[in-house]
Amino acid sequence: MRTDTGQVFKLEDYRPNDYLIPQTNLTFRLSPDATRVTAVLTVERRDGVSASAPLVLDGDGLTLKRIEIGGKKAKPAEMLVTPDQLTILEPPAARRFQLLIETELTPVGNEALMGLYRSSNVYCTQCEAEGFRRITYFLDRPDILSVYTVRIEALREEAPLLLSNGNPVDKGDVGDGWHYAVWHDPFPKPSYLFALVAGNLGKVADSFVTLSGRMVELGIYVEPGKEKLAGYAMDALKRSMKWDEEAFGREYDLDVFNIVAVSDFNMGAMENKGLNIFNDKYVLADQETATDADFANIEAIIAHEYFHNWTGNRITCRDWFQLCLKEGLTVFRDHEFSADQRSRAVKRIAEVRTLRAHQFPEDQGPLAHPVRPRRYREINNFYTATVYEKGSEVVRMIRTILGPDAFRAGMDLYFERHDGDAATIEDFIKVFEDASGRDLSQFALWYHQAGTPNLTISSTHNPALQEFMLEIEQSVPPTPSESRKRLMHIPLAFGLIGAGGQPVDYSGVEGASVEDGVIHVRKRRHMVRFSGVAERPAVSLNRGFSAPVTLSVEQKADDQFFLARHDSDSFSRWQAFNTLLTDALIAASREILGGRQPVFASRLTELAGAIAGDETLEPAYRALALALPGEADIARDIGSNIDPDAIYAAREALALAIGTANPDNFAGLYDRLADKAAFSPDAASAGRRALRNTLLDYLSMQLGGAALAAGHFQSATNMTDRAAALAVLAHRHHCSPQAIQALAAFETTYGSDPLIMDKWFQIQASVPGPQAVDTVRALTAHPAFSMHNPNRVRSLIGTFSSANQTGFHRADGEGYRFFSQTVLEVEKRNPQLAARLATALRSWRSLEPGRQAKAREALLSIAKAGDLSADLSDIVDRTLA
Ligand SMILES: [Zn+2]
Repeated sequence: MRTDTGQVFKLEDYRPNDYLIPQTNLTFRLSPDATRVTAVLTVERRDGVSASAPLVLDGDGLTLKRIEIGGKKAKPAEMLVTPDQLTILEPPAARRFQLLIETELTPVGNEALMGLYRSSNVYCTQCEAEGFRRITYFLDRPDILSVYTVRIEALREEAPLLLSNGNPVDKGDVGDGWHYAVWHDPFPKPSYLFALVAGNLGKVADSFVTLSGRMVELGIYVEPGKEKLAGYAMDALKRSMKWDEEAFGREYDLDVFNIVAVSDFNMGAMENKGLNIFNDKYVLADQETATDADFANIEAIIAHEYFHNWTGNRITCRDWFQLCLKEGLTVFRDHEFSADQRSRAVKRIAEVRTLRAHQFPEDQGPLAHPVRPRRYREINNFYTATVYEKGSEVVRMIRTILGPDAFRAGMDLYFERHDGDAATIEDFIKVFEDASGRDLSQFALWYHQAGTPNLTISSTHNPALQEFMLEIEQSVPPTPSESRKRLMHIPLAFGLIGAGGQPVDYSGVEGASVEDGVIHVRKRRHMVRFSGVAERPAVSLNRGFSAPVTLSVEQKADDQFFLARHDSDSFSRWQAFNTLLTDALIAASREILGGRQPVFASRLTELAGAIAGDETLEPAYRALALALPGEADIARDIGSNIDPDAIYAAREALALAIGTANPDNFAGLYDRLADKAAFSPDAASAGRRALRNTLLDYLSMQLGGAALAAGHFQSATNMTDRAAALAVLAHRHHCSPQAIQALAAFETTYGSDPLIMDKWFQIQASVPGPQAVDTVRALTAHPAFSMHNPNRVRSLIGTFSSANQTGFHRADGEGYRFFSQTVLEVEKRNPQLAARLATALRSWRSLEPGRQAKAREALLSIAKAGDLSADLSDIVDRTLA
């Protein structure tokens, strides 16, 4: 593990290396505690570089065994060697020469899960961002593209399967029970896309014929015996391959495409060329083991990693500052894929909820950074919601501004112009300017400037002049190291709606450029004047969430109620109701803090009932509408002086009021939605289950609720219903005999399946209240729990710290104390995971003063621990700054 050197990497310091490595030949002789890696690198000096320029290769904790320069054993005076760097002081005079480097690794002791490691007796690798330097000395940076040939040798008994990138070219016996395989990847790639897998795995095989008629062999490799759980992932892969041909004209380019599921993995999955490696939770699924959310995630992540083959692999990033070039774009592509496979309206709402829950707090707190950062201490800490989710929103805005045809022309130009390149955000923006003839220079600020812009909007109607006016003012709040902001180009989609729900026409517009229902906000202030508007319309704003901004709108409650019933834009219709709920919850939490009982307007609780029963709306949409804003969402909207207990009480009060106002229609609908057909993971069936489980949550707060939920649990025929009922019991009736019995029954049935037990940990870690910290502490000793496995740690510790507002933010600070100790314990093994966990405290300054002081103490106790990894100290220092 690298301890923190405090070194800051800056975008403006980028320059190409003096050397290239056009070819890389690797030989691995695998053994759990002494793997030999022989790298034969063809090194080439760039034109114009002096022959005396030293060659400096990156390493990380390496043990060098042998080195030859130009075929001769290197003399000690010719080089400087440390575990973290190898410098060839005087490279050969020839422009091209060979370098042989032999290193020895200990995969079994590698708990950071970067480089070559073992997961359940399987050798596997993770090299993004800087893991390859833990395998051999290399120019470990994404602009060094190399053609790889990889020979793997292993004991056949220990590792019958030997996989790497590209196509298989040779295999055979070595003797003494050893065998080998050789893989060759014809496409030059950066080292972060290198992968190797060796072990004993079960295979699911299939094939795909590309648009141009090429046959591709597909393989998904899983723990032996789990093959039947990979069928959905395989189906998702084939649908992804077809979709990318149709939507983006992108065909697959190798003879094989392999996916391997491993159980110890820091991320969701990794797009290594031709050999994707997945966290097994994003591959394995059937109705008994996986929820509908799991199915949707598997589909999205399989697609995401596959789509990287073009956006990430064929065109890669010049440097890590450009991470959003591959990630934001590929998230956009997987969002579009899921929208086409499922319901576009429902998908969009879910995306926005995720963005607000994860990216908005990042953008509004101490860890804010631009979509393309300009500096970093530890790149592992920039795999953030800002780079991924906001990065995707920026690509979506480009499409909104250009329209779908010009956007597609720009994408085609991007693939044509940059195939084989290590590119930049500037290259990406340029293709859209060239394809459309538009100037995107102001728009490009979305990549360069951090912070969530706010639009303050008010409207007036002048019946005498038949004029409707929108006054729009933009502001971008200051963020760390960016106190002054420039004005952004914000595409604000809108609609004017008449009293009957129909769109209102206008004869002219002045004050801003308005095209295809989008106001282009570019100045600080716009007075947008619509003429020929006889009656005052209701205005629907940021339709489809056309820009990732916050709105401060002076809008009458009557208009919100109207839009929640009549807006033809499904996102804005959902938003109108969600805003009404949020406003009511904020008001209620104030009442509670003032010692009063909150009262909710009957037209709000009645509207909830009307939406639930509205058969013109998809069930999945109704489920999303009825899901109350989360406690963290409400806290974010309140902004400061947060008391999580008051927010929780407000939310409970509103849920009770809605359930109490709609007992019969909720119960009737709950009964009618019971699935009578055989299980199917399709979106429509999942939507019905989602709505029914949302109704169960409301009904469970009424008399007899625990018994209802217990019945739901017992009669469940799939994991979606079973887990939902267990959560309702644990959260709403956590001391009831029904809850205790259900938790025990679940544990008995699934105790030996780690992925399912993750749900059991999650449900208990999120039970609200002051007892949660004791529950979670006790569960760390459960035999199914392990501090060594990232999935287990995320389900228990991650859920507690990020999704249990009242438990984690317990007023006496015990939640924070437990948390800081745990983060330090995780850090000893896995700094990346510890750093990710630590971000749970990023919004500590918005808490009320008592909790704020205790959260600060916890952060300081981590900071003072000494000998911290670069990953963790970077997060903690920025959070405290
Ligand atoms: Zn990705």
